[in-house]
Amino acid sequence: MSQVYDTVVVGAGMAGLVAARDLSTRGRSVLLVEGRDRIGGRTFTTTACGGELDLGGGYVHWTQPNVWVELEKHGLEHLNPPLESKTFYQLADGKVHTDEFERTHELVAKFFADARERFPLPFNPTAVDNSDIIDQTLEQRIASMNMSKKDSDLIKGVISGLCHNYSLHGSQQLLFAVATNFGNYAAELETAGSWSLPGGMKSLSDAIQGESKAELRLSTAITKITDNGWGVTLSTSNGTQIQAKTVVVATPINTMRHIAITPALPPTVQKMLTEGNPVRGSKLWVIVRGHIEPFSALAPPGQHPLNSVRVEKRWGDNTAILCMISDSDSIKHDDLAAVQKALRLFVPDLEVVDTAWQDWNADDFSQGGWMMHRPRHFLEGCVDIRKGHGRISFAGADIAALGPCTIDGAMNSGAAAARQVEAILNGKNKDSRP
Ligand SMILES: Cc1cc2nc3c(=O)[nH]c(=O)nc-3n(C[C@H](O)[C@H](O)[C@H](O)COP(=O)(O)OP(=O)(O)OC[C@H]3O[C@@H](n4cnc5c(N)ncnc54)[C@H](O)[C@@H]3O)c2cc1C
Repeated sequence: MSQVYDTVVVGAGMAGLVAARDLSTRGRSVLLVEGRDRIGGRTFTTTACGGELDLGGGYVHWTQPNVWVELEKHGLEHLNPPLESKTFYQLADGKVHTDEFERTHELVAKFFADARERFPLPFNPTAVDNSDIIDQTLEQRIASMNMSKKDSDLIKGVISGLCHNYSLHGSQQLLFAVATNFGNYAAELETAGSWSLPGGMKSLSDAIQGESKAELRLSTAITKITDNGWGVTLSTSNGTQIQAKTVVVATPINTMRHIAITPALPPTVQKMLTEGNPVRGSKLWVIVRGHIEPFSALAPPGQHPLNSVRVEKRWGDNTAILCMISDSDSIKHDDLAAVQKALRLFVPDLEVVDTAWQDWNADDFSQGGWMMHRPRHFLEGCVDIRKGHGRISFAGADIAALGPCTIDGAMNSGAAAARQVEAILNGKNKDSRP
């Protein structure tokens, strides 16, 4: 008879790695199944432009509890700060401004003024009734402030590093994320996108996997999961079956929806999976000639192909610029002339010598970028999926409560799913996850 694992963890991103490590080091027999031929998921450190670059998630912070514990444990806590920008360019109402930074701060404070009141408890996103905004899009929230076109562009520019299309994203996830960062958007932004790991995110995923006692099976995609009541059967794309007592599904929701799960998931979860994560963004590294003066630039999605730009680090004799692109289709990433033209709107004389990026949308195992939920799902589908489904638990940054969309959220969610599975294996009631 084939082996029956205590748990199969599906997906070796940060959530799955933590879940598999936690369960296996507690003595459980764990199989970690990964569709790609590598671990790390939407974090991906690779050789490009003559050095090591993170083409996926790359920024972490000491205010992120799960990340920080792991970084200190593995001696990885000496993070790189970004270069300090000397000039802030902002595209608004068709013009590039350099003196609107203070004004933008005021607008942002107003935009997020009620965040903490609406989400007072970081461990419980539904502590307060927010039904009045459950269907609110970011576009509607911006419109409700009755701002001039210029002010609304300033707001859209400053949140463009996290958002893709304001009429598709709900306001709920972003309000919660800001609430849990002291109600301060600048703190949320620093946490989510400033400090990087010298050895890239690979050093963190390798360190976690290095501790794990789970069996790792790469290049194996799960297509079907059936909970029989007494155990779970998983089917793989190459026609094999795996038996386990429990499962943790730790994939992005845009791939989870292609796994046939029986019995059927609750309607709120099905709706979230069907509608999916709308983010089509990407991260573009641009190497420019020489050591240029550090600058940042912000532009609303739809009005410029590069939306959140920052001079990040020296790259030998050259300089590396990080560009967050809200919509990957808005520019050809390897068209150096097009990228140079786009950057020259802000700094006319810079010269692009190389670029690097990863197409997360075309990738079968992500089918999209980081998570920014459509309206309602952060407060409904996400809450319900975290409760688990019989012997099937779920994890991932896409469905995380604390730290939604982040590496820290993925790790937090992986650890919570491991505790949930442990309770099932011990025959106890599942612990309640917020
Ligand atoms: C361009 C970009 C920049 C980002 N920047 C940051 C940042 O700076 N800081 C930050 O905190 N976050 C950032 N994020 C978000 C962060 O990287 C992710 O939210 C996080 O890494 C997700 O981890 P996860 O384990 O939940 O999912 P994933 O990393 O997506 O892992 C899921 C795993 O499941 C596998 N899988 C999928 N389907 C199947 C299947 N059917 N069978 C088997 N395996 C399957 C995938 O191959 C993958 O390895 C960024 C994301 C992107 C794309």
